[in-house]
Amino acid sequence: MKTVGSEQFTEIREAVRALCADFPAEYHRRIDEERGYPEAFVDALTKAGWMAALIPEEYGGSGLGLTEASVIMEEINRAGGNSGACHGQMYNMNTLVRHGSEEQKQKYLPRIAAGELRLQSMGVTEPTTGTDTTKIKTTAVRKGDRYVINGQKVWISRIQHSDLMILLARTTPLDQVRKKSEGMSIFIVDLKDAIGNGMSVQPILNMVNHETNELFFDNLEIPAENLIGEEGQGFKYILTGLNAERALIAAECIGDGYWFIDKVTAYTKERVVFGRPIGQNQGVQFPIAESFIEVEAANLMRFEACRLYDENRPCGTEANMAKYLAAKASWEAANACLQFHGGFGFAAEYDIERKFRETRLYQVAPISTNLILSYVAEHVLGLPRSF
Ligand SMILES: Cc1cc2nc3c(=O)[nH]c(=O)nc-3n(C[C@H](O)[C@H](O)[C@H](O)COP(=O)(O)OP(=O)(O)OC[C@H]3O[C@@H](n4cnc5c(N)ncnc54)[C@H](O)[C@@H]3O)c2cc1C
Repeated sequence: MKTVGSEQFTEIREAVRALCADFPAEYHRRIDEERGYPEAFVDALTKAGWMAALIPEEYGGSGLGLTEASVIMEEINRAGGNSGACHGQMYNMNTLVRHGSEEQKQKYLPRIAAGELRLQSMGVTEPTTGTDTTKIKTTAVRKGDRYVINGQKVWISRIQHSDLMILLARTTPLDQVRKKSEGMSIFIVDLKDAIGNGMSVQPILNMVNHETNELFFDNLEIPAENLIGEEGQGFKYILTGLNAERALIAAECIGDGYWFIDKVTAYTKERVVFGRPIGQNQGVQFPIAESFIEVEAANLMRFEACRLYDENRPCGTEANMAKYLAAKASWEAANACLQFHGGFGFAAEYDIERKFRETRLYQVAPISTNLILSYVAEHVLGLPRSF
């Protein structure tokens, strides 16, 4: 089926599809049932170089842009997998590449590119402040050549399958800064050193098979050289990762959307009830056609967000809108797919209920739909700030 972007990046698409073909639906279903981690799949992606897509060539990566990275993520989800197991390395990468020092890049990037280290985690969300990020309570206090971290994070993903995490913490108290977005800093945390030495991890069992955790910091010491960029400017830097994350998740939802549409289209052509294929009824056709139109529209916005990002231009609005449109469209496609499979939609062996749960997450994380609407209302339309 010809869709937006399907005739572009064909080499990447074909190569990722070929790799994904070695990990069929049964593989992802089994991992989901076992609440496991798709280790073999992530290893294969790493060995093939896809996890180093955004690392510049001089550090051993392939120097591709977010656009290409988003195509990789889209294809994984379109093939029935879940990029959520490994997309952290993609969205964190430019935070380090664009804002890290030369020493930091020399130290980490070649080893990440070689598959010796994983940079899969980002610690922003906190239990008591939620989306109100500038109020975070986790602090980092400079003591000589170390920073001492205290506080708590929640919903921090892939900690058990990553070596490194980018952590956002307050370095200047909120009441001592001019603007509330100032006084926060980001750090590289070596997870293997930190766990048991000031950082503890409490896994959160959740609706999706997504490895995510509560983190507790009790005087965790990290070397001062792990500060990324300038102290106090971390919120600005973390937006590099957050905008990339929104555009990538849009692409994943688009992959999901096409997966649901392919699946439901094939099924409704064949399933005969009342003497004709159910897909002959307009009541069945229209929700499928509507979700296809919405996925296509979301896809245009995703390419626009990625284009701006790759040109290093402001893209917060487009990244947010792409994520909003794509998460909504994939959810509509998921609903149609489940509905028109009737009872079979609930059977695990059809994979629909698994993908349904997976794609539902993206109306809440990494940013909820309501917060995108209020961003557009305030920052694009100039309406009064609502909170
Ligand atoms: C599986 C999973 C994985 C995650 N992984 C990570 C991760 O790796 N790193 C990380 O830092 N975070 C992670 N998160 C956290 C995620 O980004 C947050 O859950 C999300 O941003 C919403 O924040 P919250 O849960 O604190 O909701 P809250 O901020 O408490 O908001 C709850 C709901 O209230 C509504 N709401 C809140 N404020 C307003 C308002 N002003 N106007 C209108 N509606 C409003 C929204 O609908 C929102 O969904 C993950 C979450 C999940 C579920």
